[in-house]
Amino acid sequence: MPQDLASENHRLRQELAQLLKLAQENQQILKRYQAYDLQFIGAAGFQDLIDIMFTRFAKDADLDVVTLSLLDPDYDVRRILAELNIRFGDLPNLIFLNEETELGELADRLYAPVLGPYAEPMHGTLFPEPMAAPASVAAIPLIRRHRLIGCLALGSRNRARFDPAMGTEFLEHMGSIVAISLENVINTEKLKHIGLTDPLTGINNRRYVERRLLEEIGRARRHGHALSCLYIDIDHFKRINDRIGHQAGDEVLRGVAGRIKAELRLSDALGRFGGEEFVVVLIDAGMDDAAVVAERIRQSIAETPLTLTSGAALDVTVSIGLAALDLAGKEGVDTAARRFLARADEALYQAKQGGRNRVVRSA
Ligand code: GH3
Ligand code: MG
Ligand code: MG
Repeated sequence: MPQDLASENHRLRQELAQLLKLAQENQQILKRYQAYDLQFIGAAGFQDLIDIMFTRFAKDADLDVVTLSLLDPDYDVRRILAELNIRFGDLPNLIFLNEETELGELADRLYAPVLGPYAEPMHGTLFPEPMAAPASVAAIPLIRRHRLIGCLALGSRNRARFDPAMGTEFLEHMGSIVAISLENVINTEKLKHIGLTDPLTGINNRRYVERRLLEEIGRARRHGHALSCLYIDIDHFKRINDRIGHQAGDEVLRGVAGRIKAELRLSDALGRFGGEEFVVVLIDAGMDDAAVVAERIRQSIAETPLTLTSGAALDVTVSIGLAALDLAGKEGVDTAARRFLARADEALYQAKQGGRNRVVRSA
């Protein structure tokens, strides 16, 4: 029956063409995913990696939503990101989990990518409200050293996009690349954090404040907002050390750092500059605003004695010099920063000369 044969042949050819089209599409998808290996690995930092994942990759891979859930039982990652000014409140697609059980029904299956239509008990955690739930999901485990560190979730409005019968090899590969990249950027952020932190008090160090000061002077000049700085020095600290010992002296440094920090806004920068000296950079604050903050700091330290671990209560005072940035200044940012600090330091010297436990404005 040539007629039947012809139509059978035609059907077969159609099927083959269909398969070929699918194979080509798969190849293209594969290529698109592979192109991201290098981008993920080359990410400059956490924010960069997240941006690549949530925006560029999501768009190129034609995904409607991408989320990243990270297991962070000890708040390590969150703490470091917060210190580095990464506002994860602005990143709804970044989800932190305290324990694996929060993954619901997915928890026991995440040794390999799990593909299929969206189901709340399985995927609810990966796409939290008010995010619109996708129709199909690929949940890719992120594993480092045989430990689940998180889950990358790819979501599509197309219900057929992630089918349980699909091959998952390239998703597995992608999971391992993303896991390595994540570990890498988190380590980089940890190092940055360590390099900019004063180990004794846990607040920032001189390097951090000097760097921030340059940034903030540039920003203040561009936007025309005020900037001021406080140079704070503990009074007669040598005597304190002599009286209660160096270790208890360290406790005083921590206590004073805490009192200062409590009076500041999150956007302000505080650092231990050396010894018993602290510098605060106040954003969007002119001389008068800064004087109010400085006086608040002075009072909060002078009016309530510090309680040491020995139980002893210790009266401590600080002297504060304050300067406001001259926005009309034309010198380079480096010079401006140096002069700015030097003016606050001069005012501090006046405060010491004037009898300590006081705030003095630079002329
Ligand atoms: P003034 O009121 O004029 O500021 O007097 P002062 O004694 O505070 O000033 P000075 O700068 O002469 O002394 C600072 C002391 O701080 C000297 C140093 O032994 C002590 N110091 C510096 N770094 C540390 C530290 O990390 N821990 C402790 N416990 N003491 C420190
Ligand atoms: Mg000093
Ligand atoms: Mg001192």
